[in-house]
Amino acid sequence: MALLRHTPKEITVERKALSINPAKTCQPVGAMYAALGIHGCLPHSHGSQGCCAYHRSALTRHTKEPISAATSSFTEGSSVFGGQANLLTAIQNIFSVYEPEIIAVHTTCLSETIGDDMTQIVEKARTEGKVPEGKHVIYCNTPSYVGSHVTGYANMVGGMVKNLAKSTGVKNGKINIIPGFCEPSDMAEIKRLALEMGVDANVFPDTSGVLNGPLTGKFEMYPKGGAKVADIQSSGDAIGTVALGEWATAHAAKMLDSENKVPCQIMGLPISLGATDDYIMALHKMSGKAVPATIDFERGQVVDVMSDYNQYFFGKRVALAGDPDQVIGLVKLCVELDMIPAYVVSGTPGNKFERTINEIIKGTPAEGITKVKCPGDLFILHQWIKQEPVDLIIGNTYCKYISRDEDIPLLRHGFPIVDRMGHTYFPSVGYKGALRLMEKMLDLFLTRRDRDEPESSFELVY
Ligand code: SF4
Repeated sequence: MALLRHTPKEITVERKALSINPAKTCQPVGAMYAALGIHGCLPHSHGSQGCCAYHRSALTRHTKEPISAATSSFTEGSSVFGGQANLLTAIQNIFSVYEPEIIAVHTTCLSETIGDDMTQIVEKARTEGKVPEGKHVIYCNTPSYVGSHVTGYANMVGGMVKNLAKSTGVKNGKINIIPGFCEPSDMAEIKRLALEMGVDANVFPDTSGVLNGPLTGKFEMYPKGGAKVADIQSSGDAIGTVALGEWATAHAAKMLDSENKVPCQIMGLPISLGATDDYIMALHKMSGKAVPATIDFERGQVVDVMSDYNQYFFGKRVALAGDPDQVIGLVKLCVELDMIPAYVVSGTPGNKFERTINEIIKGTPAEGITKVKCPGDLFILHQWIKQEPVDLIIGNTYCKYISRDEDIPLLRHGFPIVDRMGHTYFPSVGYKGALRLMEKMLDLFLTRRDRDEPESSFELVY
């Protein structure tokens, strides 16, 4: 059923307080996802069962993996008197029943509205001996009436640094790499590129091997993957931090800088040729390692495809919706491919978004054409598309309604993707990621042409 057929083309009023079909989800989803990037971690949702069930199911539907998480199970009593007693009991029970290495607690709208003091409650759990020797509890605040899942991810990564990072005064020669909110496949690729460079990298969080692991026939509550607690603790002794994606990682990187004197370079997610070059150069400068020929080779392949297929990309109009760090990288790729990022929407607020997009398109054919809205929603994106169509939509599964109604191909990218596979296994970051994105776009453009071309001009090769 085409649900959005009645979206009006005309924008009669500028909406300020109403979001329709938001291009985001709630903070704890991101916090839970980040927590799963620690080996042996059980995320804990401090709020009602309903919130936790939703966050788990959102992640399960996206990754097709069972997501384990605990909840403080607020009832009327805890909603009135606070959730301290529930959380203290939960911490004790979780360690004795599920035996995680670490519990990562995030709040919800309810516990935030009550005003539960997480620092005090977790400290109480520690002093009362509810946290066994050698085990850990970390926490962060994720009030979902502000920000988005990206903010929640950033807050949990900040919680990792705040609760775990230590400085011994002796540098360990490692480089912290903090991936922004991206797929397990992206985290694996970010790690692989660092390894290829010969960099001693400390990547956290790292959901690869946790949320894209193999089927072994045996349920493992804590899969092999994930950043080790000891490694996150040692992040305070690193020689530097490369933070990939400003919205999702700047908070933690700046904390490591100010609290542990670990200098940081905050940059974009390495989506696109240029952004991957920036990542490689940052690793090169920070570590002093030369860029190996294998990486040059991968880069050359991307440039080869860009030039071989430019005629199919050139001038294509694209509508993009998603998380800011992801969308910024995708807009860079569109510009590199001579496409026009006509409409750009991010549901996660941040003043810098519009400025960054305008900087990317400056001096390109897109200047003066691109419309940007942040925070924006899929409703405004649809209205813009109705006013002047595009050749391609890039966004999450929710964009399929616009795609169907307007008969425009959709490249699924971002969170959540619940009706296709691939995102957790194949990266969109790095040179390999750029190749994959180009392959998918070309496939959509040429499949559409094969469908629509009149028989008189239907060709084997266009
Ligand atoms: S109540 Fe808040 S935390 Fe819970 S699901 Fe809704 S938005 Fe998310």
